[in-house]
Order: sequence, then C-alpha cells, then structure tokens
Amino acid sequence: MEKNKCKNCNKEIENEIFVLNLWVCPYCNYHHTIDARDRLQITADSNSFNELGKNISSVDFLNFYDIKSYGERLKETRLKASLDDAIIVGDAQIEGNDVALGIMDFGFMGGSMGSVVGEKIKILSNYSIGKNIPLVIFCTSGGARMQEGTISLMQMAKTVSSIGRVKENRIPYITVITNPTSGGVSASFATIADIIIAEPHALFCFAGPRVIKQTIKKNPPPDFGSAERNLKNGQVDMIVNRGDLKDTLANLLRLFRG
Ligand SMILES: [Zn+2]
Repeated sequence: MEKNKCKNCNKEIENEIFVLNLWVCPYCNYHHTIDARDRLQITADSNSFNELGKNISSVDFLNFYDIKSYGERLKETRLKASLDDAIIVGDAQIEGNDVALGIMDFGFMGGSMGSVVGEKIKILSNYSIGKNIPLVIFCTSGGARMQEGTISLMQMAKTVSSIGRVKENRIPYITVITNPTSGGVSASFATIADIIIAEPHALFCFAGPRVIKQTIKKNPPPDFGSAERNLKNGQVDMIVNRGDLKDTLANLLRLFRG
C-alpha cells in the first residue's frame, strides 16, 4: 500500500485515506498543498466547469535567463503541471450556485503572477460582471514572476482594477487563501475580497518569515503570517477546514443570492 508522509508531523498516511481526507493529515490536520485540478474537483460540482482563457500562455519577452532561460522553464513547467500557467479560470457551479471560479496552482513556478495570471483574472472578472455571478478565487502564490520583470508587478494594478469593476457592479467577491499566499498576490487581489476565507495554518503575508528575519535581524513571532494570526488581526474573516470549504462557499453564495 502506497504511503505518504505528513510534512508537519511526519506520520505515515495511507494513500487512500490521504485522498479521502482531501490531502489533509488525519493526525495533525496539516493541509497539504494540492494542485489546481484536484482543487477544482473537490470544489466545483462534477462536470460543471468550463474553462475560460484557454491556451493563453506567457512568452519570454525579456529573454530572461537565470540558470536556464524563462522560455525553457515555461516549457518544462507546462509539461510537468499540465497547465498553461499558474491559474485556471472558468465558469462553474458550487452546490448548484453559479460562480466565476479561479484556482491558482503553486506547482506552476511557485504560483507566481505574471502577465497571464493577470490577464486570466481580468477575463474572469469581466465574465463575472457579464453574467452577474459571484467571483471566487483560490489563492496560492510566492509573489510576482521575476522572469517578467516590471510587467509582472503591473499585474497587481491590473488585477485590482479588474476586481474594482466587479465591486462597482456590486457582485460578491470571495477569496480562499491557501498555503502559501504571499508577495504581489497577497498585496493585490487576494486581500480585497468581500470575504476572505483561509485554510488552517496557511501562510498569508507579504514577505515570509525568512525574509523578515534577514531584514530586521530579529526572529518574527512563531505564528507570523499564519491564517490564525491574520484572523486575530482582522485580515482574514474565517478559517475553514478543507473538508468544509465547499459547503461554506455554497452557504455564502446562497446568502448573497438571497
Ligand atoms: Zn500530520
């Protein structure tokens, strides 16, 4: 029997139990990172998802090179993650409620936000306005995509203004913060939602504890950037276990509709 080791408590979890438990450790409730397709499967009603903005993909317009070229990196990641970029967007139903749904994937270059993530969020926002349906985005990101330089930073303004139009149209906007959500994503569209839900213990901050420590030469508090600390400080509205997320979202969507 295939086994998985919990990244938090190190206990072995049988594969079948791990999957049934939605990749949450049954011993310590650690929520392991999942990819966008798995997230979609456990969130949207079956066969309800229609992808928007398919086949939009980034190009290496700066000829960026670190230890390999950005173009090469994109090609490899696309194959490995079976995704065009770090987010999938589309129209879906959650317990029968229509939503414009976006799901980020940390496995695609650390969920970094480049021009394609920004464009897809714009497409999704416009779709939500056109159909007058709520916008729900699952966030996970290490920040801006450095391989796209300044253009990646501009996506902060682009996503915020796209979502600003959703708000002008008085359409509900909900984000679900998953581990980790940081950098330009936490500083833009992740934090301007009407309701911000987080999974337990998700890291949710601008700069992570390691960077803070290097900068101020002091240890940040042990719960720095955690969903729980963010809840205490008012940055997060509720913390919801993965197993309860679909119901919670459906209840909120019904509430908004009513
Ligand atoms: Zn565990």
